[in-house]
Amino acid sequence: MDITYLLNSGFLVRDEKTLLVFDDYEDPAGIVDAAYDKGDFDRLYIFATHAHFDHFSTHVRAYAPKTTRYIFSSDIKHTKRVKIFPTNKITYMKRYTEWEDDAIHVWSYDSTDVGVCFRVQLPSGKRVFHAGDFNWWHWIGDTPENIDLAEKAFKRQVKRLKGMQADVAFFPVDGRLGIAQEKGALEFAARTNVKSLVAMHRVDYPMWTPSREFKVINRIPTWSPLKPGEHRTFVEGQFTED
Ligand SMILES: [Zn+2]
Repeated sequence: MDITYLLNSGFLVRDEKTLLVFDDYEDPAGIVDAAYDKGDFDRLYIFATHAHFDHFSTHVRAYAPKTTRYIFSSDIKHTKRVKIFPTNKITYMKRYTEWEDDAIHVWSYDSTDVGVCFRVQLPSGKRVFHAGDFNWWHWIGDTPENIDLAEKAFKRQVKRLKGMQADVAFFPVDGRLGIAQEKGALEFAARTNVKSLVAMHRVDYPMWTPSREFKVINRIPTWSPLKPGEHRTFVEGQFTED
């Protein structure tokens, strides 16, 4: 499985002849354009976890001719921006629903922000999870009430993900949260059964290095991409650079 970083929470995942695009709001390195023009794929699925500008953009409309399916969170249905997309190619998903065709299977989960998280099973059997804006949004300096609410909302959701299996999980490690930045990722990886974690939603912040605590609790490889176009191959439970 090949993974390329687009920007923010945007990634291109290639597994054999299947392409998955997640939250491609901007793609400064032209990664999806290049893959699209090359055309060496059977299926192309474009996901958007919610309507926020830093996750969903109309520029992915340009890929419609070769797109197998747009899979959007149901909140996107109510936006003006989605009106330019061909409706017969869109599947909207609410939280805790499933969708499949003859190639992939998709599960949706609730977020702690707008929209959903997605988990996708590829034809090879590999599974990827994309959190969207689901996170433990612990803002240092916020009111105790808000901090408490954020914790409760996150823990309630994470409980429902107990034991969930995925080979690769994309999860926010947002630099703006300062010392609380990895709290969500740490707890999420501890509760679920994910084999690796890719940090996202940290534009303008340096690479995240997991804390000692994270590494003791979660013995899984992590990758924190920095530059658009950065790429890793996930093989035999490891991220390798080529
Ligand atoms: Zn966001």
